[in-house]
Amino acid sequence: MRGESPRACLWLASYKAFFQNVAAGLRTGRLPLERSVENPADTRPKTGGRRLDKSCCGQVQSQPCAKGRGPGDPFAWFGRMIANCLEYAQAAKREGRPVVGILCEYTPRELILAAGGVPVCLCAGSAATIPAAEEYLPSNLCPLIKSTFGYHVKRSNPFLEMADLLVAETTCDGKKKMYELLAESRPMIVLELPQKADDEESLKAWERELRRLQAALEERFGVRITDCRLREAIAAMNRERALRRRLAEFMRLEPPPLTGRQLLELKSSISGIPADLEQYEQAIARLEERIGQDQKPVARRPDAGATPGGQDGCPSRLGGQDARPPLPAGGDSCAPVRVLMTGVPVVHGAERVVDIIESAGGVVVCMENCTGLKPILEDVDAAAADPLRTLAEKYYHLPCSVMTRNDRRMDLLRALARAYRPECVIELVWQACLTYDIESHAVKRLAEGELGLPYLKIVTDYSPSDSARIAMRVEALYETTRARRNSR
Ligand code: SF4
Ligand code: SF4
Repeated sequence: MRGESPRACLWLASYKAFFQNVAAGLRTGRLPLERSVENPADTRPKTGGRRLDKSCCGQVQSQPCAKGRGPGDPFAWFGRMIANCLEYAQAAKREGRPVVGILCEYTPRELILAAGGVPVCLCAGSAATIPAAEEYLPSNLCPLIKSTFGYHVKRSNPFLEMADLLVAETTCDGKKKMYELLAESRPMIVLELPQKADDEESLKAWERELRRLQAALEERFGVRITDCRLREAIAAMNRERALRRRLAEFMRLEPPPLTGRQLLELKSSISGIPADLEQYEQAIARLEERIGQDQKPVARRPDAGATPGGQDGCPSRLGGQDARPPLPAGGDSCAPVRVLMTGVPVVHGAERVVDIIESAGGVVVCMENCTGLKPILEDVDAAAADPLRTLAEKYYHLPCSVMTRNDRRMDLLRALARAYRPECVIELVWQACLTYDIESHAVKRLAEGELGLPYLKIVTDYSPSDSARIAMRVEALYETTRARRNSR
């Protein structure tokens, strides 16, 4: 029924989540983190930021601490992420739940979850499928689009093959035109995404599109997406976002306890898998335990960090100037260079540039992109009178370069620079991604002119042929960065 009491829905949802956690705790022998039953998303840090493991010479370990690894190891769990997702999706299909493929962070997973569906991200990062795609698509196209389409041509993505429906949006031109080819043989709904970021009429149009999606899901899957079901789905996604934010927050420490690549591994192609959420909680608990045991505390404002469940956008979540941990000391030329990475998504399988950045002596402390913090910083008010309107607002705020003007991205970068204390900015642009490539001019101006940070743009694709050249450019950037550090 529409119009149920928001509080009753949320109470029910959080009650369910609480007992799921207790059951998980009993299974794993670990109690869930303390969280309020009223607010299942409340995973605020219980400790201040502290230093974690580092080897000699200040280098962050390239692998998580071996002690504590075992059958319940979250890193091992997410190392099998694709297999886990496949198992989950197959089981869901057997139970009669539809699998819905999504291709962009503008898709509100909450609506799919509220329809009983399994939202699975289909964005691909494999170079191997690109030749098949190039039989249909131009070669000078974004590799993410080509790789995704190549899986379709080869019929080799099991998630795409089992998808009952695809949901896509009119974002960049390359994606839009690729969707037309995909829709020739796959059931697909394309949402019209308006692109004037701060225009009230555009937001209303987007809200209408989400209502259209809601009706289409209801009709196709024979369900009613009541406000109550939507609120439950919103609460579940808020919880997932809060856990992932908390993990990212560890990267504010100096040195950070993980590499950027390790943090990037802690994610899933399918949202809302209960076992994933348990693993996020275990990872947080282990990291907090380790920083509690071994390391010296870093001065940090006790309330700095995520404020889960709130409606504030990212800047207020990210704390103020005094939330900043110290940078590597002047003269500590061995400490990894703290890198803020921005630009295009780094999808599963396409992490080559992150590996180069970190092998060259850096650590990616913050990713602004769609596979990093951008989509998880803002929550949705599950208790709002009109949850769908609030959902539309959250997704419309996503600062993708397809928006004009995209000032929110610049605000986000400012806030991330304050919170994560990068020493330089590296922007990744997939070849032929015009919107990010053009917007890189504004990002460079912001980084160098306003934030005072050295900036490097890397334009590449999924082929490793330019890896040596990229590594040389990154090393040159680090030389500049370390020289500045040493002169402080
Ligand atoms: S970068 Fe833009 S188009 Fe790509 S996934 Fe993110 S929101 Fe979608
Ligand atoms: S990286 Fe750029 S070109 Fe590629 S899909 Fe995203 S917005 Fe489109």
